[in-house]
Amino acid sequence: MKALAWHGKGDIRCDSVPDPRIEDDRDVVIKVTACAICGSDLHLMGGFMPTMERGDVLGHETMGEVVEVGRAAASRLKVGDRVVVPFTMSCGECRQCKWGNWSCCERTNPNGKMQAEQFGYPLAGLFGFSHITGGYAGGQAEYLRVPFADVGPLVIPEGLSDEQVLFLSDIFPTAYQAAENCGITGGETIAIWGAGPVGVLAVTSCFLLGAERVISIDTVPERLALARQAGAETIDFGEETVQEQIMEMTGGKGPDAVIEAVGMEAHGADTLAQKVSSAVLAATVSMERPFALNQAFLACRPGGVVSMPGVYAGMAGPVALGIFMNKGLTLKTGQTHMLRYMKPLLERIEKGEVDPSFIISHRTTSLEDGPELYKTFRDKQDGCTKVVLKPHG
Ligand code: NAD
Ligand code: ZN
Ligand code: ZN
Repeated sequence: MKALAWHGKGDIRCDSVPDPRIEDDRDVVIKVTACAICGSDLHLMGGFMPTMERGDVLGHETMGEVVEVGRAAASRLKVGDRVVVPFTMSCGECRQCKWGNWSCCERTNPNGKMQAEQFGYPLAGLFGFSHITGGYAGGQAEYLRVPFADVGPLVIPEGLSDEQVLFLSDIFPTAYQAAENCGITGGETIAIWGAGPVGVLAVTSCFLLGAERVISIDTVPERLALARQAGAETIDFGEETVQEQIMEMTGGKGPDAVIEAVGMEAHGADTLAQKVSSAVLAATVSMERPFALNQAFLACRPGGVVSMPGVYAGMAGPVALGIFMNKGLTLKTGQTHMLRYMKPLLERIEKGEVDPSFIISHRTTSLEDGPELYKTFRDKQDGCTKVVLKPHG
């Protein structure tokens, strides 16, 4: 079959690879009807994620039709079911799964030992996301083996299109968890760094949870336009001084919570860190760049919450901990606990309360277009806000 594979920093190719097959009783194999490129894939493409190997198949936002079912997976799924696959794998039995901390599952990463050496503990296996997270093949492919399928995949009822439900695989639950982590009870002002797919769906999620105002910060015009479409007021960090602008917009009060939906490859300069020590910053140019996080620390009102869906892999450059500590902020973060959110959010889509497909700008029916579309999405060319691939047309 065809699949998109990693061949080194900046080098994604459409390869021919063996078809997946059932390897465990709990597996199913799906025929992929739609998959997407995520901001997290860009971190892999950028060479920021350790333990990637040449030929690793990418992709963790995938849905499709079940074509083969392992004996244990048959308790939940049958051939012909249409499913959305969460990007994290959960066993459903370990203490973390029982607590509902699905992305901290202790049993789904076969390379858990390697991960524990870096993070102290094993964490959930992820599709298409390096060997330290399990080395599982991803779903930017014609077919996908789905392990632990008796726990993860969500069956989609008739009447909803792939585009309406595909983002239940990752970014909609991620954006919703980011908003939920802000502790919104009604009437709050939330500021969000990054108007990529996650940031824009976080705008939507904040309003679903009852926020009064959302301020979205980015510099790419079409992304800011999407954030406005979702109801946000916007700040262009290329044109305006973010902190001044936020203060003016909130009458000096500041946002009650802030969301960092940018991650380790933030653009621009870290004005804060430069003030602190340009020498330190110069020494860390190749490190992960927490620029947006530092701005979010600065902007958040004292006693507020910092919610960080943005992904980091290891050591980041200077983090403004002094600001964080002295203002008494709270940090909430994590890979998304997918199974908390997939079903309730599907219900919201079914009721017509939300349709996350409004963020899609690019569609293709050929995986061969994948490598080029990765670049288009990374470089924010051609008005690209989200790419969906439909490998079987
Ligand atoms: P994206 O790369 O498409 O969007 C990031 C946006 O941030 C871009 O529009 C960019 O212009 C903007 N940006 C860059 N520097 C900025 C700055 N200094 N201030 C404000 N905006 C800035 O990515 P995405 O798909 O929206 O994902 C966002 C982040 O969420 C990534 O780090 C991704 O890895 C992460 N993510 C996390 C999870 C999770 O489970 N926690 C799941 C999915 C994605
Ligand atoms: Zn993702
Ligand atoms: Zn588990």
